[in-house]
Amino acid sequence: MPAAGQPLRNAMTIDVEDYFQVSAFAPYIDRAQWDGLECRVERNLERILALLDRHGVKATFFTLGWIAERYPQAVRRIVDAGHELASHGHGHQRASELDPAQFRADVTRAKALLEDLSGRPVLGYRAPSFSIGPANWWAFDVLGETGHRYSSSVYPIRHDHYGMPDSPRFAYEVKPGLIEVPVTTLRLRGRNLPSSGGGYFRLLPYALSRWMIRRVNEQDGQSAVFYFHPWEIDAEQPRVPGIDAKSRFRHYVNLRHTLGRIDRLLGDFRWGRMDEIFLPPSGAAQAATTGAAAAALPRLGAALSHEGRL
Ligand SMILES: [Zn+2]
Repeated sequence: MPAAGQPLRNAMTIDVEDYFQVSAFAPYIDRAQWDGLECRVERNLERILALLDRHGVKATFFTLGWIAERYPQAVRRIVDAGHELASHGHGHQRASELDPAQFRADVTRAKALLEDLSGRPVLGYRAPSFSIGPANWWAFDVLGETGHRYSSSVYPIRHDHYGMPDSPRFAYEVKPGLIEVPVTTLRLRGRNLPSSGGGYFRLLPYALSRWMIRRVNEQDGQSAVFYFHPWEIDAEQPRVPGIDAKSRFRHYVNLRHTLGRIDRLLGDFRWGRMDEIFLPPSGAAQAATTGAAAAALPRLGAALSHEGRL
């Protein structure tokens, strides 16, 4: 709960991966080629860290193990600046394309790497392409068993690559000790509209994005979760040849405006880290989700019926 008169704090999140690792490019770039491609994530991260620093904002960085392995210095810079280091898995394979054993191996490897580098527990996980849904709900068991406390992996929208439009729009307990915190949507005329990052943020006019986040804060009374990628602020990134028109448009639209818009966003709202906004304070609730913050969260069934779509 915000102090009286204080606007809600929203969560600023960054999915740390490079331009050639996005799922839409997977049919065009074999992962065996990754090591031979020009990597730009480090310099883009520097620009993001400088921008956050200018605004005095602490954020959450869902970082790929693959990146952490190659750029340990960049990961340490994130942690040293006071941001939360969380996991985006290791190899950026969609959770929906892995079996439980492969998924466990992927998230365990990433978590161990990130914890070794940072010297701190990694509590959060975001699946590549929001790839947890009804068909692989077992992934939450694996996340809980491997020591994660929250996930941000289910996108309650309809989309050709991902989405679970009937799932709750706000944080809910998926199982004891583990909460799901979806990226933010705006409910309008019976539909959930993506309103917090990714290609939509680049496509829509800034004022519309700002209006949507404001509505969520003021009408739903909830913190928003915003996300972007380091490659989205990099208009000079190498163009991947031969890709289909839809993926090309989604990936490259308005790249040169993103940094300026995020600058405005950071000034127009209050921001913080996922763990600080959504998890009970450490020590107060080591017994999993019995703490004040989690106690206030609906469980999955209740959250679904609250949304009126069970
Ligand atoms: Zn990703």
